[in-house]
Amino acid sequence: KVRVRFAPSPTGPLHIGGVRTALFNYLFAKKHNGTFILRIEDTDQNRYVEGAEQYIIDALNWCGIPFDEGINKNEKFGPYRQSERKHLYKAYAEELIKSGNAYYAFDTAEELDFHRADHEAKGKTFIYNWHNRLKLSNSLSLSAEKTQAKLEAGDDYVIRFKSPQDETLHLTDIIRGDIKIETNVLDDKVLFKSDGMPTYHLANIVDDHLMEITHVIRGEEWLPSLALHYQLYKAFGWEAPEFAHLPLILKPTGKGKLSKRDGDKLGFPVFPLQWTDPVTEEISRGYKEDGYFPDAMINFLAFLGWNPGTEQEIFNLEELIAAFELERVNKSGARFDPDKIKWFNHHYMQEQNNDELAEAFKKEHSELADIDVNYIALVVGMIKERGTFISDFWELSAFFFVAPNCYDEKASKKAFKENTGELMASINDVLDTITDFSIDNIQTEIKGWITVNNVGFGQIMMPLRIALVGGLHGPDVFEIMFMIGKTETIKRVKKLIT
Ligand code: GLU
Repeated sequence: KVRVRFAPSPTGPLHIGGVRTALFNYLFAKKHNGTFILRIEDTDQNRYVEGAEQYIIDALNWCGIPFDEGINKNEKFGPYRQSERKHLYKAYAEELIKSGNAYYAFDTAEELDFHRADHEAKGKTFIYNWHNRLKLSNSLSLSAEKTQAKLEAGDDYVIRFKSPQDETLHLTDIIRGDIKIETNVLDDKVLFKSDGMPTYHLANIVDDHLMEITHVIRGEEWLPSLALHYQLYKAFGWEAPEFAHLPLILKPTGKGKLSKRDGDKLGFPVFPLQWTDPVTEEISRGYKEDGYFPDAMINFLAFLGWNPGTEQEIFNLEELIAAFELERVNKSGARFDPDKIKWFNHHYMQEQNNDELAEAFKKEHSELADIDVNYIALVVGMIKERGTFISDFWELSAFFFVAPNCYDEKASKKAFKENTGELMASINDVLDTITDFSIDNIQTEIKGWITVNNVGFGQIMMPLRIALVGGLHGPDVFEIMFMIGKTETIKRVKKLIT
């Protein structure tokens, strides 16, 4: 039974890369009728940011990819916050010491700095492993008595993993295939600290094991940790899950990794929801507040590093679940294209329900407060094809609600002739005679009048359009007249010629 987890650290708002990781976990889980778990990795108290955890949960919900198991939800394997699992980890670290896979180290920060500087001066890099271990202050170099005395005296310590010498590790990644690593280049990573907190590595492996995770799907930045994680599973005698490391997300230029700061610099959001920094109160834009639809964002993110192998680009969530395969995820970085998500948004706008769009549109504009939402929905249906966001609607449709307060100069120059006033007066007379003001009737009457009086079509239609919308843009003139109604049409034409 597939069990996957999304395991963010609450160090700030979830950025687009994190959402992509969550999405791929979600798709994989759903595809295999598995479980998608949210675990909060908050062991690093120094980097904890107020509100980040709630933000993560809100973001997953808004995107439509909620977790099945986690905080306050089906807590079978809980708690799901590592800070609340603190009591668990020490025993595991001690188990590794007992089995000879880990050891206590007492070196102070100053001592380590000294060794680093000393090595550097000799043109070498200091690695805390079999190279240097016995020259440093730890339970492998000190006698058992001395070690015990230090522990009893309450000296600060860390527990380090004892990375073996001269071994070749064979790792497998679903996306990257086989990876060979020589243990000689690995350092003895810290697993546990005397403040009682595990490091990411220990907590992550222990929890993945206890929560029965079958597949670890995460960002490429964790690939360098894979060797250690493999060794930890082996040291504990546990079966390791399968791993899949997702490719980097690159800047729009394709050069370098997309960073949290790129959004503000380049003018597009890199966060799903707006975020207010609790300390600086600085606001970062979010896709939601910028007017994107969650389906557009999901469709867009799915293509950051994955493709279905066909030409099809539009996939709703159901279709993504059906088509998704980890084997089709690319190794190379995926370029982030902010124009592409706009393209998706335009597409998903067409699929939205007009009544719902109308409600949202009405909320954004006080001018629409007293206007019937059914009327707004009809208007939305006529103009949404030309918009990418609901915020485009007003510019595209204001004339359906209010008379233009000025006329486009260039359009007027083109449309107005000496006799325009006279012609428009006659048109108003014609309009006045129409009792059933339907699109067909308006069209028949006006076109009929044009033919009988042998006037150029443009000579009537252009000024008429300017009277109604203020310029030469907008949908079909007869439709506009029908929509705004007879009284308003006549009023606007009159206004043009007086
Ligand atoms: N806490 C890690 C993160 O913030 C989890 C990495 C993993 O999935 O193993 O991304």
